[in-house]
Amino acid sequence: YPVEVRLHLSRTETPPVFVAIIQDITERKRTEEQLSHLAYYDTLTGLPNRALLLDRLQQAMVKADRVDRLVAVLFLDLDRFKVINDTLGHHLGDGLLKAVAERLKDCMRAGDTISRLGGDEFTVVLADVAHVDNVTRVVHKILDSFARPFRVDDRDLFTSVSIGITLYPFDVHDAEGLLKNADAAMYHAKESGRSTFRFFTADLNVRAERRLALETALRQALEKNQLSLHYQPQVDLKSGRIIGMEALARWQHPELGQVPPIEFIPVAEETGLILPIGEWALREACRQIKAWHATGFPKLQVAVNISGKQLLQKNFPEQVQAILRETGLAARYLDLELTESILMVDAGGGAAAMQALHALGVSFSMDDFGTGYSSLAYLKRFPIDVLKIDRSFVRDLTTNPNDAAIVKTIIAMAHTLGMRVIAEGVETYEQLAFLRDQGCDGSQGYYCSKPLAADDFTEL
Ligand code: C2E
Ligand code: MG
Ligand code: MG
Repeated sequence: YPVEVRLHLSRTETPPVFVAIIQDITERKRTEEQLSHLAYYDTLTGLPNRALLLDRLQQAMVKADRVDRLVAVLFLDLDRFKVINDTLGHHLGDGLLKAVAERLKDCMRAGDTISRLGGDEFTVVLADVAHVDNVTRVVHKILDSFARPFRVDDRDLFTSVSIGITLYPFDVHDAEGLLKNADAAMYHAKESGRSTFRFFTADLNVRAERRLALETALRQALEKNQLSLHYQPQVDLKSGRIIGMEALARWQHPELGQVPPIEFIPVAEETGLILPIGEWALREACRQIKAWHATGFPKLQVAVNISGKQLLQKNFPEQVQAILRETGLAARYLDLELTESILMVDAGGGAAAMQALHALGVSFSMDDFGTGYSSLAYLKRFPIDVLKIDRSFVRDLTTNPNDAAIVKTIIAMAHTLGMRVIAEGVETYEQLAFLRDQGCDGSQGYYCSKPLAADDFTEL
């Protein structure tokens, strides 16, 4: 055991003697170690923390320069960890993080550093890499290792991980920059469908910055009146008359320009901004259609896109009812468009809200049909009035016999189940004629009209 030795010369004796005081300092050494451990290690998992990681990364970079090797930085983020934490509790969440740390250690060589940066984010530094293939091999090993469940408190938990990778000296030359790049690449991996990996590329930085700018700007879009609705007519294929319209959100930002919904709706959904934005769209569409009714135009129905988050709010039916009351619009003129994925996620809660609204007279459309679960039998469990065939099937309808067969079948089966069918993205007369001949009820697409601002729709 470690000791501290103090020597005193004592002249009171003859001859003088040395007095040695020997003290066991095991305790003090342990405290010192604990303090330095606290400064450099994560208390939950015992892995190096950010400070130690940066230190090791810098050492690895210096060494790599000398021996002409690469350093790879992997940024790992568990997929849907928040759900596990929120539903099973922090205790199991912490247990899972510890188990993940152990699993990662098993995938690494001795010289590699695994660290936890906080939350469910881990970083791995692979030092002394001879070839990129070695990196992808390790990454595959990590991804595969997540196929097995994690044992936490006698429970088997499953999680997957998304991994972003950056390479030194290819991408940037400082440790902080490498971490930032790997983080951006990790986001890209998440966007590409999770449980996968992506390498950093230069344009990811540009995209990450734009995303951040979008998010910041979107928070103010509503109060600054930058959002508006455009309306795209839906045409009856027998009579050729306009039978309704779909309301589509538009965002005009002074610096970012016209931001398309496929870009800002996902950001709105991730940040929860879809709730106020969706409520605004619903109110605005009802107000506008009521105004058209009041000025003597035919009583058309308006379709409004609803995100899953909106439908699953506890008071969604009440919210819709309040908006209808406020705007004086009868429920039968409102149609709500949902995508298949919404019904897959939480069939129970969503179905109840749909039934309640359907009983009031609100109708429902299944949007983008064919891109998700695509089970007509399954759909029968929900009060769906209209099936909208996704644009991707309509596009090659006249050239691809498979698409033509799919569209024919969807129309026939939907009719058997008592639903109407509207084809999306009809751009040519040939497509329109084919759909009409197959008995499709309605068409929506550029052939008839692009989505129009309210004034232009009045004109039309
Ligand atoms: P969606 O609901 O499937 O809307 C149809 C999309 O197809 C619209 O794109 C429309 O402009 C486009 N489109 C219509 N006809 C044609 C055509 O002939 N050819 C082609 N190539 N495209 C056509 P948009 O307006 O960009 O909206 C994209 C998506 O954003 C919508 O897809 C919808 O999922 C979402 N979205 C738009 N507004 C809202 C909203 O207020 N709330 C929510 N939750 N989602 C919205
Ligand atoms: Mg839609
Ligand atoms: Mg659609």
